[in-house]
Amino acid sequence: MFEVDLLLVQPWIYDFSAHDFWLKPYGLLKLGGLLRKKGYTLGFVDLLDPFHPELPKRPKRKPFGTGFFYKEPIPKPSPFLDVPRRYFRYGLPYPLAKKELLKYKPKAVLISITMTYWYPGLFVLLKLLQEVFGEIPVFVGGIYVRLLKEHLQAFLEKEGFLHVFPVECKDYEEAVQLIEERIKPSGHPYPFDYPIFDLQREIPYVILMTSEGCPYRCPYCASYKLYGGFKAYPIEKILEEIIFWHREHKVVDFAFYDDALLYDFENHLKPLLEAIIDLGLKVRFHTPNAIHARFIDEEVAKVLKLSGFTTVRLGLERMEKRFDAKVSIDEFISAIHCLRKAGFREDNLGAYVIFGIPYEDYNEVEKTLHFLFEFGVQPYIAEFSPVPGTPFFKLCQEVSRYPIDEDPIFHNKSIFPAVKKPDWERIQAIKNLAREMRRRLTSAS
Ligand code: SF4
Repeated sequence: MFEVDLLLVQPWIYDFSAHDFWLKPYGLLKLGGLLRKKGYTLGFVDLLDPFHPELPKRPKRKPFGTGFFYKEPIPKPSPFLDVPRRYFRYGLPYPLAKKELLKYKPKAVLISITMTYWYPGLFVLLKLLQEVFGEIPVFVGGIYVRLLKEHLQAFLEKEGFLHVFPVECKDYEEAVQLIEERIKPSGHPYPFDYPIFDLQREIPYVILMTSEGCPYRCPYCASYKLYGGFKAYPIEKILEEIIFWHREHKVVDFAFYDDALLYDFENHLKPLLEAIIDLGLKVRFHTPNAIHARFIDEEVAKVLKLSGFTTVRLGLERMEKRFDAKVSIDEFISAIHCLRKAGFREDNLGAYVIFGIPYEDYNEVEKTLHFLFEFGVQPYIAEFSPVPGTPFFKLCQEVSRYPIDEDPIFHNKSIFPAVKKPDWERIQAIKNLAREMRRRLTSAS
């Protein structure tokens, strides 16, 4: 039994699909790093841990640290009986999760949860935590809480969970302060405040954030609501972090979670990447969050290539009939030419195409896929999920076949909540088309 001040827990995901496509609870791990430096003793239980030796079946791993999670089918929520897909709990089987938690005796628990429609996994976890630890304080943060605190509060009131506290802090300092007011550290200050990736069983990759927020306000995106604009972090610290993980823990793959990684490139990311090139670090960078094609010229593309960018995902969304201002089709084409010239190949380049928006035009989605294929860019379907507080959420309310403002379970992207009468065959055909195009492009490169 490990006695710790704080136990950090990554909840299960209850969903139709989930992949470890550089998926980590970055905010929770970063908060853990800040608290460890203050002398808190920590434990970390990752209920999604794909490396747990007692999993009934080891999930397959893929290149660059990505892979699958272990999953078990569970009953589909009754409103989704029309959705021709199975529903799963991703992560450790329930008894194994309980066994992991029982290894610890914490003074408090910290949890974070991202998507609003993943709350079922959180609710099951809160009940399990009470069973295992009794009524010790449990702090719950993350995007779900920041967008829909009242939804969590209603559950806590119904269950009489007076020991569970939704956390809605404006920054990490405020979150640290909140913990300090309630729990005192019992250990020695740790020398670093980096996110606690080293408390995982393995470190297949590390997440980086060099900034928060975005200068744009696309009508479907939560970035402005969450961050209120763009703010750059000091680059020197990010460089130290990369060197630390690479040299001390042999990490090669790094994924950026920035919303606007290339914004103000000259003053922000460029000095960092030039330092990486000068140091000769053999690392690979990946951008699961799309980067802005608008900011890519020959010089930018060259620096990205030389510094180790390997997976480059661009945000396109639509070829025509655009509803945002983040890129024009000419800017997109120009960016692809520059990236090609710098040496990026088909297997490096991908672009997101949003699918399932209110009043969706299936033909427009297909046209965009063909456009990308012709340009040798792998098309990735980004299924639309309505985010509370955005203009597209209001539109979605008008057309959805579900009461999306009553229960966040209806925000699930896989159910195409903004499509009144989904044509499931056509939807599947479009997803298959994108997959087939990726296969052909990557086998050709
Ligand atoms: S450019 Fe990207 S991150 Fe910025 S608001 Fe649009 S979708 Fe969100």
